[in-house]
Amino acid sequence: MEFKYVIINFLILVTVLIIVGRKTVKRIFGGRYERINSDLDRAEEIEKMPMPFYEEPTVEAVDTDCSEETDKAQSVVAEKIASIEAFGEREKSEVHRGMIEDARKELFSVMKENVISLFSYEKYQNAVRALDRQVIDEILKRISLTPGDMAYLKHHDVLYVTLTSAYPLSEDIVADVDRATTQMLEAVGGKTSLWVLEDSSLVGGLRLRIGDTVYDGTVAEELYQFEKNMNHEPIMHDDTVGHLIQEFTERAESFRPRIHQYQLGRVMSVSDGICWMDGLADIMYGEVVEFECGERGMVLDIQQNRIGCVIFGEFEHIESGSRVRRVGRIASVPVGECLLGRVVDAMGNPIDAMGYLPYKQTRPIEYKAPGILERAPVNSPLHTGIKAIDALVPIGKGQRELIIGDRQTGKTAIAIDTIINQKGKDTVCIYVAIGQKDTLVAEIKEKLEAHGAMEYTTIIAVPASASAALQYIAPFSGSAMAEYFMYAGKDVLIVYDDLSKHAVAYRELSLLLHRPSGREAYPGDIFYLHSRLLERAAHLSDELGGGSITALPIIETLAGDISAYIPTNVISITDGQIFLDAELFNEGQRPAVNVGLSVSRVGGAAQTPSMKKVSSSLRTRLAQYRELAEFMQFGSDIDEETKKTLASGRLLTEALRQARYAPIEDNMQAILIFAVSEGYADGIAPEGMEKFEKELYRYFAEEKAELALKIKNADRFDDELKKELREALSEFCVRS
Ligand code: ATP
Ligand code: MG
Repeated sequence: MEFKYVIINFLILVTVLIIVGRKTVKRIFGGRYERINSDLDRAEEIEKMPMPFYEEPTVEAVDTDCSEETDKAQSVVAEKIASIEAFGEREKSEVHRGMIEDARKELFSVMKENVISLFSYEKYQNAVRALDRQVIDEILKRISLTPGDMAYLKHHDVLYVTLTSAYPLSEDIVADVDRATTQMLEAVGGKTSLWVLEDSSLVGGLRLRIGDTVYDGTVAEELYQFEKNMNHEPIMHDDTVGHLIQEFTERAESFRPRIHQYQLGRVMSVSDGICWMDGLADIMYGEVVEFECGERGMVLDIQQNRIGCVIFGEFEHIESGSRVRRVGRIASVPVGECLLGRVVDAMGNPIDAMGYLPYKQTRPIEYKAPGILERAPVNSPLHTGIKAIDALVPIGKGQRELIIGDRQTGKTAIAIDTIINQKGKDTVCIYVAIGQKDTLVAEIKEKLEAHGAMEYTTIIAVPASASAALQYIAPFSGSAMAEYFMYAGKDVLIVYDDLSKHAVAYRELSLLLHRPSGREAYPGDIFYLHSRLLERAAHLSDELGGGSITALPIIETLAGDISAYIPTNVISITDGQIFLDAELFNEGQRPAVNVGLSVSRVGGAAQTPSMKKVSSSLRTRLAQYRELAEFMQFGSDIDEETKKTLASGRLLTEALRQARYAPIEDNMQAILIFAVSEGYADGIAPEGMEKFEKELYRYFAEEKAELALKIKNADRFDDELKKELREALSEFCVRS
């Protein structure tokens, strides 16, 4: 009986085991089975690939007479040089520079065509072929596995190797490549699969691709590199063209391929200015990539199996499946003195029809902000020339002061006036226009030129029509340009007009990159974005040259709401804010600085001693006046004392009015404020204030210039100086 149960139990157990086990076994081995199948399929595919041509080419070295071709090319070149020389005789205006530029491009395309046609002659082809051995030896000396290849090998056992040439290769070259790559991979436990291809577009030479890395010794690559360098070489003189032609002809005649190394990837999909790619194994965040059509982009997202990048230009010509190349550097922009007086786009390319930018240096757009030990306290003033600001919210060199207000409240006006006021003060200015209208930027440039301010100013203009990617990088480019001057020991003023639009552009990019959105649909790192930008403004210590970047970011509010997400962020990052009040603006009080809500956390440390003393009680007096004025709206009997406070407050407010493009020297501001607060303007109707102010300036400029200078340079605004000033003012009042 018992024996029967044992057998039944045993049978049940076996059945259960078979049912459960089969599934597990299938799960464990099924994947492997499928993998083997796909490997077999792939092997079949490889077999179908065109096999290399192993025979040594038997063509005899025919001495093809291609003198006709060369002559033709040379006559075209001569013609071009003649036309360029004609420019040289005339004065070298900007337009001519542009024409030389165009001629040079045309010249290059002619020369390129000629080189390509030359290589179709056997004589030249054989000459290049004779170098194959040298080229491949050089390449095999360099090959190595990158971290990206190793990561790939972890998941796949085979790394693909492709050897491409413009013509059939000799057997021993292919065998050598096979041996070297197999050896290299076996050392790390991997396998290779070598494909040998022919591609006539390479013109001549060899190209070996291992994984994503390409070792390129082809004529096509040489031409590409030459063109790229040529586009970067400043062309200021006609002899540059001659020099280029000579270099090119020499290089074409005695062609010695050099090995260029780069990494390739493939475009997976493109939409809305965002491109997803695979390959590019070792790419870094922020690195620049170049598409086949010549457009460039910047990597902003790295995932395990795909890479997201933003495209700077037009993305319509980028096809999915096309190749994309690592440029091998973080996005950077030209920097240097040559940028002064120029209008450039976010990548630093000139857009002002003044021709080529003769830069010698570039800087990465993202750069680490100076640390605490590298900084010095903010202690010298950066005068804006605007009374309401210099007296009440003084800005110091190296400070970050936010200009905030509703639309059309004079935010840009303040920034532009500050730039104009830097004339003769040895401060470089950079104005970054983000998402502004082209006409506005043109107007700003015109105004700056009219006031002689363009000489020390660079405008970075990224209009609203530009891609979000360009709007996103514009302030960083500006910062890089500013840093060049700061680290050279100079003072720089940079205006970001405005960061609200910048935040919107970044939100657009983030949403397109499928990043999770947070408050007001902005991505979580928007605070980090603005803080890492504004932290780069600093006053460097003396050991580092003592240069500074003063940043004036601008933020637009909606209906005066400074508690929205972006405004609160930027308020907390900056060292103070100038709040512009729409109501004051509409009342005609311009600049419409709201004294109560504006603050500068650097304060008096960034004022001259005279200004500091004169303006010390200004804020309280103005606040007192506003409070009283509001109270008086209810209309009640006023005693004499109150009447007096009201009148002087009114005059003070009136004195703080200022027209655009009319910066006032710091000492003159101090004299005016002193005169009004000490009652020298009492009795003047508010409408007469403008006249009083003008005459006062004229009087001190012409008749009391010495005293004005004394006030400017005084270490202390002491009683003696005060007495002298009072005497001068009494004399002025008696006269007028
Ligand atoms: P937006 O929000 O469009 O950028 P904004 O806040 O930058 O505007 P501005 O363009 O600087 O404002 O100025 C708006 C208008 O106010 C302009 O027409 C300008 O001429 C005028 N304005 C600004 N400041 C003054 C001033 N101090 N005196 C007279 N007019 C002024
Ligand atoms: Mg503006």
